[in-house]
Amino acid sequence: MKGHTFTRRQAIRSGVAASLAAAASSTTRAASYPTTRPARSEVGNIIFMVADGMSAGVPSMTELLSRRARGRGTHWYDLQQHPETTCGYFETHSLNSPVTDSSAASSAWGSGSRIFNGALNKLPDGTNLTPIAMLVKDTRRRVGLVTTTTITHATPAGFAAVEKARSSEDEIAEQYLDRVDVLMGGGLEFFKADRRKDEKDLIDAYRDKGYAYWDHRQQVVDGSNPEKILGLFDSGHLPYAIDRQNQEKLAAKLPTLAEMTRAALNSLAPSPNGFLLQIEGGRVDHAAHANDAAALLWEQLAFDDAIGVVREFLGGHPETLVVITTDHGNANPGLRGMGSGYSDTEKCFDILAGVRASFDVLQQELKRAARDSGGARDAIVEVVRSTCGIELARKDADTVVSIVAGTLPYEANKQLANAHGLLGQILGNYTGVGFNGTKHTEDPAPVLALGAGRSQFSGLLRNTGAFVRMTGAFGIQYRNPSMTVARARAYLSQVPDVDPVHWA
Ligand SMILES: [Zn+2]
Repeated sequence: MKGHTFTRRQAIRSGVAASLAAAASSTTRAASYPTTRPARSEVGNIIFMVADGMSAGVPSMTELLSRRARGRGTHWYDLQQHPETTCGYFETHSLNSPVTDSSAASSAWGSGSRIFNGALNKLPDGTNLTPIAMLVKDTRRRVGLVTTTTITHATPAGFAAVEKARSSEDEIAEQYLDRVDVLMGGGLEFFKADRRKDEKDLIDAYRDKGYAYWDHRQQVVDGSNPEKILGLFDSGHLPYAIDRQNQEKLAAKLPTLAEMTRAALNSLAPSPNGFLLQIEGGRVDHAAHANDAAALLWEQLAFDDAIGVVREFLGGHPETLVVITTDHGNANPGLRGMGSGYSDTEKCFDILAGVRASFDVLQQELKRAARDSGGARDAIVEVVRSTCGIELARKDADTVVSIVAGTLPYEANKQLANAHGLLGQILGNYTGVGFNGTKHTEDPAPVLALGAGRSQFSGLLRNTGAFVRMTGAFGIQYRNPSMTVARARAYLSQVPDVDPVHWA
């Protein structure tokens, strides 16, 4: 039902049929579930969607690319204008910086407390916080995490894991067992005996606890809905959507975020007590760090397709609260006016639509061409032409040749003084997309809230307010301890060897 336009009337009408279907389904599966709802609540389910590192300019550029490349607009844009959407913002600061990383951001949503960048649900003095997945499981609701990064990455982990350092992905993989019912994404390396430091076979451990183990797209789209799923589709992060859609082998093996979202909802929907599901388009952030405009906008489109699946679900399950947001800005990409009177700006989307690979693939191809040709200018220019559909001007070509040779020209912006920062600027001469650096930014995060309880998300909220509202919606009375900025600073001055910076 792609392109489905959600209306309240449709939601109510389809809700009746879907409730009956869910009731019938739960009858056959009742043995596995408690039979009473633990706390009366208007909100039956919560779906929390995160386009990681999505700066404010991304949705409108994605809308323009979608119209150019797919002949239709985006769900994000449609929802922004929809009378039944509540629009707001999160202020995104962490405990040690106005600029957050993903683990502190997700921990703020997941625990209601601000912590230092790089940690997961742990205060600087070592106090453990209880993540929302544990609280939700205690009320006999079910929990799911779906992402395009490793499933043990910062944003999913912020809802379910407690660690001093977000990089402890071996440990995070173990913590999910029994705490999260549905897991789908990348990160196989953190579950395999021959890749883990402790050599434990976590896939066997999950199977022993009743999880279905999936490692191929076909298992995601075949329509089965096991109650517990461990879906790991790549060793590390899933490849960028732009590479998946341009390489047949990847498209055959790897599910899209929308497909994983549908499978997760199929698994979680029969739960009589409701569920919490976090869905992350995690590589929007990576493409922003890389200043890779085409990869970024196609990641956002893949996220938008997942929004479409969730809207469809909401149509049949109006007791669901849907929150769609980002954790922080990143490198703040924006579309610049191009040409005389800016009249060439829209043509930039013809160029963006013609790009066929991420910078990961482009840089591999450039290195290969340089090696095979002895660094010949024509060979390098041809790679940019065939991969990006861009005919480089002479001076731009000279700069790309020197980047490939490892000789970087002077760049005043220190964050852009590297191969991908320079490549992003050169391609920006044709795509019109400019980046302000390669790091996260302080921008407030836009929030779209739909369905039951959505009105709680209007205005400017602290990121910690998501925890208060989600637990409140589920009738959970619990507050984690917290630390003020002043106390955190005082603590650090007494314990100077505490390193608040763990993130890569
Ligand atoms: Zn990031």
